[in-house]
Amino acid sequence: MFRIGYGTDIHTLAPGIPLMLGGIHIPSEYGCEAHSDGDTVIHALCDALFGALSLGDIGTHFPDSDPQWKNVASSIFLEYAVQQMRSEGFRIGNADINIHLENPKLRPYIQQIREHLAALFHCEPGLISVKAKTAEGTGAVGAGEAVRAEAVILLYQE
Ligand code: MG
Repeated sequence: MFRIGYGTDIHTLAPGIPLMLGGIHIPSEYGCEAHSDGDTVIHALCDALFGALSLGDIGTHFPDSDPQWKNVASSIFLEYAVQQMRSEGFRIGNADINIHLENPKLRPYIQQIREHLAALFHCEPGLISVKAKTAEGTGAVGAGEAVRAEAVILLYQE
């Protein structure tokens, strides 16, 4: 049996906050305003995974009203989602992620992000695609005010 999931997330950028994307610290003057570490990529991927499993969304499992999730590394959210996936007998087929960010260029960090996410899934980095693009100066992303991510994931049951 196959399951597909789609997730998206957006966070406002503000100065003086570490920028975390896909579990990797990206050197930047701006980071995400958020209750957790604001890792937009992991939040989108968690939503895709919870969606594929029909288990609600990231807010269902980790409400931002709960102080225990304040400033935590979002990787723990994905670890939990992967545990749910495995306990239901699913494995990752592949995932494809888009990151929309005007600055800095993410190309130097793409491979690290793929390897970090693959480790959380206990899979090969080849199953995790990460693509980065700018918004060509348009909208909130183009103005450098926000970072957005989209993720699709395919699961299969052995
Ligand atoms: Mg988020």
